[in-house]
Amino acid sequence: MIMDKKRCTAIVLAAGKGSRMKSDVAKQYLDLCGKPLIWYALYAMERSSVIDDCILVTTAEDISYVKKEIVDRYDFHKVKRITAGGKERYDSVYQALRVIAEGGLAVPNTDGYVFIHDGARPFLTEEILRRCYDEVCVCGACVAGMPVKDTIKVADAHGYAVQTPDRNMLWQVQTPQAFRVELITEAYEKLMARQNTTDICRLPQITDDAMVVETFMDVPVKLVKGSYENIKITTPEDMAAAETLVHRNASEF
Ligand code: C5P
Repeated sequence: MIMDKKRCTAIVLAAGKGSRMKSDVAKQYLDLCGKPLIWYALYAMERSSVIDDCILVTTAEDISYVKKEIVDRYDFHKVKRITAGGKERYDSVYQALRVIAEGGLAVPNTDGYVFIHDGARPFLTEEILRRCYDEVCVCGACVAGMPVKDTIKVADAHGYAVQTPDRNMLWQVQTPQAFRVELITEAYEKLMARQNTTDICRLPQITDDAMVVETFMDVPVKLVKGSYENIKITTPEDMAAAETLVHRNASEF
């Protein structure tokens, strides 16, 4: 039990096409040890003492399937809305933020926090959610990640190494990414306003939410320890690694 806890809404993203998985079934519904992949992230939110409610973002075509076969079937009571995402990940996040801003949740979240999480990351733990909550209460913006283990090179367009950044300064970024609700809403409104002026091509590709805050808001984003097991399932090799992790942590599921 967290004393004086602020309201926390999870946005779970599952509107991607998952084309790198090379599968007929969208990757979020692929079977992982007897459960659809998206089940794992939703289960982590459902049993968390940090998260109060959840918005699940899928493609428009999948909404009724997901409601029946995942949300109702597995009794995910914290999922209060299933909403249609957009073309890019940031479009999907924006759609969920609009639900919050337009009072689309049974209990409004006006001064709490939003935890944005990739539905393709099945190994989210309560410890990670708790660390993000503790930090977002202090900083207003934080993201889970881990220091990189490998040396990272910057390559030129021809595949030649042009730079080797100091490894001690590099983190691989994960989700959840947690923000004060007003902060992340304003950041995304600014991004969308910029998009509408067709200027977005001049921005670097937006691949996470921290980037939106870094680009449009004068608020530093704190990096919080995630876990090396908090992997994102992208390719068939990741699925094999995920099966091993599910078996190793069988008592969790
Ligand atoms: O494509 P990427 O692996 O970065 O996607 C991360 C997460 O964002 C996935 O869970 C995916 O389903 C979601 N996503 C989304 N809407 C998109 C693209 C990705 O909800 N348009």
